[in-house]
Amino acid sequence: MKPEVISTPEAMRARSAAWRKNGERIGFVPTMGYLHEGHLSLIREARRHSTRCVVSIYVNPTQFAPGEDLDKYPRDFERDLQLCAEEGVQAVFFPDDTMMYPEGYQTYVYNASLSGLLCGQSRPTHFKGVTTIVAKLFNIVQPDVAVFGQKDAQQALIIRNMVRDLHFPIEIIVAPIVRESDGLAMSSRNRYLTAEQRRQALALYQSIRQTETEWQNGRRDIAGLTRNIRTHIEAHPACRVDYIAFVDARTLQPATESSREILLALAVYVGSTRLIDNTLLTR
Ligand code: AMP
Repeated sequence: MKPEVISTPEAMRARSAAWRKNGERIGFVPTMGYLHEGHLSLIREARRHSTRCVVSIYVNPTQFAPGEDLDKYPRDFERDLQLCAEEGVQAVFFPDDTMMYPEGYQTYVYNASLSGLLCGQSRPTHFKGVTTIVAKLFNIVQPDVAVFGQKDAQQALIIRNMVRDLHFPIEIIVAPIVRESDGLAMSSRNRYLTAEQRRQALALYQSIRQTETEWQNGRRDIAGLTRNIRTHIEAHPACRVDYIAFVDARTLQPATESSREILLALAVYVGSTRLIDNTLLTR
């Protein structure tokens, strides 16, 4: 069955309220659309933890800076709707900008600690846009459980902290990275890559795999591991490193001896497309 398409906050809240009254448990997956297997894995996870599943499709302008890819961000609503139908999604929340940011809009939510780190260095306004839209979507959809992808590890951590700090009564689940068969992390932005760039984009996953192997073998010199990653990525002429970071997975501060879990996070421009990937390393 095709999901119900809901485009106003009022109608969405009414739908959720009616479900809740019937004792349903609401699962939620926020997306920017152009759905791929990564998104679908989140939907399946949400469905495992709920009896009604809502997917939002909204390309949120406040998380794009001027000059980023807001205007060319890929969209295919009919295909997304079909995929949601196949996955058993009951409602798709599909608002437009006038619904989400009407004239006079002036309130933002931001994380004062983590927003300026890692991706926040090259995208200083990005996470403020993310936390603002996710807080709004949580208030509109009122889910019991929401699922995010580990692909955007910093985003998932910032959302977890927002839910804790602002007392949202919502369980947050973070689902693993879904990859193409050759290892490239799935992303709506992969479609910007030329065939040659697509080949060179594999450098991210290759250097993550290589580092995982060395880590498993007991190698711990982060400076040396970082140099090797940089050398491997820079051997690909289409690639330009934005950052290579070994950080504490909870604080995003540089990893130390006491970090229980270390996030190895990469951001690399392949041509003009900025790709991210990561893995967790445990002590
Ligand atoms: P987006 O549409 O890019 O905003 O992503 C929506 C959600 O899907 C976010 O929680 C992402 O972390 C998640 N996601 C995107 N790509 C992947 C992937 N390859 N594997 C798992 N989750 C993903």
